[in-house]
Amino acid sequence: MIEVVEPATAQVMAEIPRAGVEETDTAVAAAKAAYPGWRAVKPGDRAAMLLRISEGVAARLEELARLEARNAGKPISDARGEIGMVAECFRYYAGAPERNLGQQIPVAGGVDVTFREPLGVVGLITPWNFPLVIASWKVAPALAAGNTVVLKPAELTPLTAVELERIALEAGLPEGVLNVIPGPGSVAGSRLVEHPDVAKIAFTGSTEVGRRIAAAAAQTIKRVTLELGGKSANVIFADADLDAAAAAAPAAMFGNAGQDCCARSRILVERAGLDDLLAALERAVTSIVVGDPLAEETEMGPLISADQREAVRSYVPEDAPVAIRGSAPDGPGFWFAPTVLSPVSNSDRAATEEIFGPVACVIPFADEAEAVAIANDTIYGLSGSVWTRDGAKALRVARAIETGVVSINSNSSVRVTTPFGGFKQSGVGRELGPDALEHYTDVKNVFYSTEG
Ligand code: NDP
Repeated sequence: MIEVVEPATAQVMAEIPRAGVEETDTAVAAAKAAYPGWRAVKPGDRAAMLLRISEGVAARLEELARLEARNAGKPISDARGEIGMVAECFRYYAGAPERNLGQQIPVAGGVDVTFREPLGVVGLITPWNFPLVIASWKVAPALAAGNTVVLKPAELTPLTAVELERIALEAGLPEGVLNVIPGPGSVAGSRLVEHPDVAKIAFTGSTEVGRRIAAAAAQTIKRVTLELGGKSANVIFADADLDAAAAAAPAAMFGNAGQDCCARSRILVERAGLDDLLAALERAVTSIVVGDPLAEETEMGPLISADQREAVRSYVPEDAPVAIRGSAPDGPGFWFAPTVLSPVSNSDRAATEEIFGPVACVIPFADEAEAVAIANDTIYGLSGSVWTRDGAKALRVARAIETGVVSINSNSSVRVTTPFGGFKQSGVGRELGPDALEHYTDVKNVFYSTEG
């Protein structure tokens, strides 16, 4: 059995069966058996089922949000937003089955058309930081394209994925089309990756595990998309609206207690604006409400586990340059106060490694060229921001930063309708928007001779 722990209390909140190799093989066999039937479902009927899943999630939004908030330790207001996005994601991809368009290509002697064919059984492996919402980014386009799915949620946060399977069955999804296997990554996850009947793996998690998955998937030439770590730069020029940049920065650093691959955990500040920015940042960080995830006023919850807290703590040793420290509750639960380190060199460990906790670094820069050089001096390239009132400079810097997602005068990263994914070691492929569908289909070319 898996003992599911509530991070705010460190108590067990549920026990559910743990999937091992045998259960993984059974799920893959069920998905394989269901595949011919599912891909043959009329596009409009497949769309209607995805819409009903969206409606089923929306109808249970509050219940799912409370479950996610308790299991992942995230503020209830954030959890509501995430479950809302799950419903939106299924609604968006309900439009896809009837728009899965190919091409007609001019050729000699006949007609040439392309089809976007589903892949078969796809294995989805998801993390604990945004459990159901990241699962929906994969499940919805995979099903829309006609694939069947085996979803392995993180062992720490499996509860909402188990509910999604129920909702999908209630929505009329045939048995075997969506199979959820809560189990350890080293057992259930790696079995999915090596299984010869799994055509593709879509993974979100650490760069280290992503590397292993890519290597193992090569044995069966599986398609792989990877959404991995980040160390994103929030580039703030002195000519920006510094109050707005400082007010927005805490959510971008400490949202989800910093356990966010898109966290803008490196704040690059032009020297001329450094003092003003730090003063405004101090006011914003010290007022963050850290506490019970289920309390409406909470803005930041605990970390996911005791291990995660130890890992985060290692980035703030006794002699760390702590410039700003917020507050956190004492007592049970995996709490860690929001912390800003300043000044930090971009080569310091806290600036090079993904901390995945509420610890951010302030790194000063002299000019635009240095800002871009520092922003790009990382193995990662997932997201980032540029703050300035100079529109031309904003676009120049946005284009120069080697990253998959950039926002200007904003810290937003993710929308259901726009592509999301990383450059460099932050990953391969894109989720969400129209681009995700490409990663759940293969192109087939058909030539039809018209010669007598
Ligand atoms: P992992 O990369 O280990 O976990 C992500 C998912 O992969 C989980 O479902 C996990 O299963 C599974 N997994 C683990 N090992 C394997 C394997 N060998 N084969 C197949 N699947 C596997 O992340 P952690 O939870 O350990 O977090 C460690 C660090 O990773 C964090 O501190 C953070 O830096 C980064 N991370 C990044 C995320 C992102 O969004 N980019 C998300 C989560 C973590 P299980 O956990 O059930 O064992």
